[in-house]
Order: sequence, then structure tokens, then C-alpha cells
Amino acid sequence: MFCRQLNHRGFDSARAFSFIFLRFQFPFLDSEFQMTYTHIPTTIPGPGITEDEWNDEFKGCDCLVECTAESGCTCLTTGIDNYSEDRRLLPTSSETPQLLIECSTNCACCLMEPSCRNRVVQNGIMKELEVNIKSYEKKFQLEILKVFSTSDKGDGARTLQPIQPGEFVCEYASECIGEEEVQKRHMEFRDDNYTLTLKEHFGQKTIKTFLDPRLRGNIGRFLNHSCQPNCDVVVVRLGRMCPTAGIFAKREIQPGEELCYDYGRSELEGNDRKPCRCGTTSCRGFLPMSATPNE
Ligand SMILES: [Zn+2]
Ligand SMILES: [Zn+2]
Ligand SMILES: [Zn+2]
Repeated sequence: MFCRQLNHRGFDSARAFSFIFLRFQFPFLDSEFQMTYTHIPTTIPGPGITEDEWNDEFKGCDCLVECTAESGCTCLTTGIDNYSEDRRLLPTSSETPQLLIECSTNCACCLMEPSCRNRVVQNGIMKELEVNIKSYEKKFQLEILKVFSTSDKGDGARTLQPIQPGEFVCEYASECIGEEEVQKRHMEFRDDNYTLTLKEHFGQKTIKTFLDPRLRGNIGRFLNHSCQPNCDVVVVRLGRMCPTAGIFAKREIQPGEELCYDYGRSELEGNDRKPCRCGTTSCRGFLPMSATPNE
């Protein structure tokens, strides 16, 4: 419903768009990676998300030539291209974060797919990445992943290929779940270390989205926090109002480098937070933490 409003109002409210995110950290327990989870390539609806919410899709564009701002693609709601010709995320001014909507099956450019440049996250992982599964058994290896030897920081993911600034790394593929389900899972699993909360502000309206890869996810769930990360989290909409999170390179990343992003702005102070081991010069000392799992 809200997305149709956005479509019809020409995205006026999108001008005031901003977002913050925070990946919840439970302070007292050392988290072990959940051994059993199902691999999914992209975010799916989970408990607490109704069919109507999930099926709230954008109208799509009528482009038959190319989807660029210059040619007037209506999926580019802020009037600027999301991606360059070589599929890199284009930098936006920090004052106006991009409301990033990719083209979808509702777009006329479906016919010329995959040449539409406004499709990146939906095409999936293009780089060879691997995960350190110190605490995993080999049977949990995913098709696209290999084991790399343990490091002092424990589990993590790294790239085997160079990645250029703005290139797509992977989605934070998750179940998109409702607020009550966040609480429920927190009670059930205690060390909820996964839920990524996206808080988007559209003018006066705030939309909260909870992405939880605990039970269903991809390599995105293995990326560690760093206070000076090489990747960024970007909110991306794959043709529907329910967003997903894309992880993009912030700078050039060399083969063998660990992939990490900043888990977010901490809402809590104090020493009961988990110490951060990112080892960077701008380390804040502790992992970011929210007061509650759904904050
Ligand atoms: Zn398109
Ligand atoms: Zn288009
Ligand atoms: Zn489109």
C-alpha cells in the first residue's frame, strides 16, 4: 500500500529518505554459529510478514532501450542512476541517501534482461568468496564456499578475487520477519547475533525491517564487524516495498582480504558489550549493541 503511494506521489517523500541499521549483539554470551541453517540465495518472507506485505510491488518501468536516469527510467526514483555501466554502485551525496529500487519482473526491460544495468543484487554473487568455518563440519559447506584456515578472529568470510569499489559482494540474504518473531527468536536462541534491523525514515514515516539469517541465509551471515570496514550495507528493493540488504565494497579489496562491514551505531554504552577485535586504528573498542533485539 505504501509503495503504491510512493509510486503515485512521484516519490516526493523519498527526498527525506534516510536510514540507519544495527545488527543486534547479545552482550553476555559468546555466539557460536548456528550449525544448521538452510542456504537461500536471496531474502524471503518469514513469520510475521503477510502475503500482502510481501506482494506490495512497484509498478515497474516501461523502458525498452535502457534503464538510466537520462532515458527517464521510472525505477530510478531519485532521478539518478543506481549503478554504473559496469554495475558498480554509484556514490550519492550523504545528504540524500539513495532509495535504491532495482528493476523487476514488472518492468518492460525484462525483455532485454540481462542488459538492464539496474539489476545487480538480484543477479547474485559474482565473486568467488569463501568462509572460515572453524566451528563447522565439512558437510555444511555451501556450493559457492570453501574453507579457509582459521584466523585469530574466528569465523569470517573473505574474497578470493579482487573487488573494485562499489562492486556488489553479496546480499545479507535472510528471512524478513515481523517484530514479534524477533522477540520470539531472541527468547528461543538467546545469543541472537544475526538480526539486522533497518530503520528507514521517509519524511515523518519510519519503516522498520528485520532481516534474520539465523535459520535461512547465505554467506552474508558470516561477515564480521569492523570499525573501519571494507564493505557497506545498502538497502535495496528488488521490485517490492519489503527491502533487502546488499553488501557492497567500500574500497578496493584484495584477494585474501577478510570482508567486513560496520554493524551499526551502538545504542548502548558500557563495558558489558562484547569487545571488538577488528584491530583497525579507528576501533571503538566494543561491538555495536542495541538495547533490545528489535531496536
Ligand atoms: Zn530495467
Ligand atoms: Zn527502466
Ligand atoms: Zn524498471
